[in-house]
Amino acid sequence: MDLIIVGAGMAGLCAAVEASEIGANVVVFEKQPNVGGSSLLSGCFMAFAETELQRKLAIDDSTESLMKDLQIVGQFKNDEQLVKAYCKHQLATYNWLVARGVQFQGCQAVSGHSNPRGHTIIPAQAIHTLKKQAQKNGVKLYVDSPVVRLLTEQQWVVGVIYEQNGQTQECYAAKGVLLTAGGFSQSEDLLGAFAPQLESTIRLGGEGNQGDGIKLAASVGAWLEDFPYLKGTYGFHPSSTNEKKRQSHTFYKGGIIVNEQGNRFVNESISYKLLGDAALQQTNQRTFQIWDQTVMDKGVAGDALYDFQQLYSEGLIIKADTIEELEEKIIVPKGSLKKTIASYNRYLITGDDPFGRHTLTHTYGTPTPLETAPFYAMETATAMLATYAGVRVNEHGQALNPFGEPIKGLFAAGEMVGGFHGAGYMTGSSLGKAAIFGRIAASYALQISEEVAR
Ligand SMILES: Cc1cc2nc3c(=O)[nH]c(=O)nc-3n(C[C@H](O)[C@H](O)[C@H](O)COP(=O)(O)OP(=O)(O)OC[C@H]3O[C@@H](n4cnc5c(N)ncnc54)[C@H](O)[C@@H]3O)c2cc1C
Repeated sequence: MDLIIVGAGMAGLCAAVEASEIGANVVVFEKQPNVGGSSLLSGCFMAFAETELQRKLAIDDSTESLMKDLQIVGQFKNDEQLVKAYCKHQLATYNWLVARGVQFQGCQAVSGHSNPRGHTIIPAQAIHTLKKQAQKNGVKLYVDSPVVRLLTEQQWVVGVIYEQNGQTQECYAAKGVLLTAGGFSQSEDLLGAFAPQLESTIRLGGEGNQGDGIKLAASVGAWLEDFPYLKGTYGFHPSSTNEKKRQSHTFYKGGIIVNEQGNRFVNESISYKLLGDAALQQTNQRTFQIWDQTVMDKGVAGDALYDFQQLYSEGLIIKADTIEELEEKIIVPKGSLKKTIASYNRYLITGDDPFGRHTLTHTYGTPTPLETAPFYAMETATAMLATYAGVRVNEHGQALNPFGEPIKGLFAAGEMVGGFHGAGYMTGSSLGKAAIFGRIAASYALQISEEVAR
């Protein structure tokens, strides 16, 4: 065997296809009975710039703008080398995915984007296509086979111990081990240790995402990054589960967010991660998205975030002919919402919103006044769906020790990697990073091990 890949989500499958196309013998171990992890459950946005699809939609975007947005959203705490590597390889990876049959449906302006660049996939179509391609290339894919330990010889990672059919077995690879085992949004232990402030959030994400990859890397001395920036994601109806992810972002189309006193408390155009932080500080953590018919009409049928009509038909959105009636229905103090909306509409004219809202999302778009009946509300909660903090890597995907030196034979990519997002997350950059760095790490693992005589 040349390369062992641990975890079969977007990162692991892209890595497997890449490595097998180079001609390597590859094995992928997946802990769950099915492949896909959080990638399969995801909201579908991938952040790419200068694509053919954007050109067709007359969206004028640039790699420079993507790079700038990633750094601004990450508050310049992100590792510049990783951001540069993303930007260097992003367009090639988009074209690579298209060439292998991944279908991109459309392009939306989503959180953190100064241009519409959230390229939408159908996650099941993308994952199924990549899995089929990997298997066609001869990749061995074992499901129900968790990797439980790394094997080392003279400080090189040379293989793994995995479990299968109740047996513990060893597997060795000449060119290393690539960990793509996702984050830890389903690990109460790790969330309790690193993000106790997120205890009350809804838990979403792949059932297998328990931080195994991070623990495996740490067991051979990997350094960790971005843990102070763990955040939840705002925008889910409180009844959401992995099976029914009821998500809506009316606030990025012009809606506002209020607490149970009927008051706004945040600039609605900022990252939904920061909206999550703000919402978790409200009384009883009870908040609502509020919008009018003008915003309702901006819904996008079939979209993961903007299909408002679908949520309405599921009975999750409350509708009222007047603002007073809406106040009664969602039970906020009489007159509060009316006052909040009147002030908000005035701020849109005067430009002096106390929360600083001037756009729809990030630097994109212009909000419209909430004045066209009927009016709508959706109770909204914060979910923990991806962790974005983890193993420190360099721009080639080599796992690094606390001194910044590569751990020989060990590579990591996808959600289990830290350092890329910094203090904030730009929508689409996690699936994007999984695909881009999965490919980078796989090809570098094969290249470097040829260069370094062992
Ligand atoms: C509801 C939701 C919506 C999202 N929306 C978006 C979005 O629109 N855009 C975006 O960019 N990101 C989004 N994300 C985040 C994004 O989906 C993930 O960060 C990304 O898919 C991670 O890909 P990955 O390949 O690193 O991990 P995963 O896809 O999670 O794959 C990791 C795999 O490793 C397996 N594994 C774990 N431990 C072991 C082990 N010990 N041995 C073997 N296998 C193991 C897991 O079972 C899993 O299958 C969303 C996430 C969720 C949950």
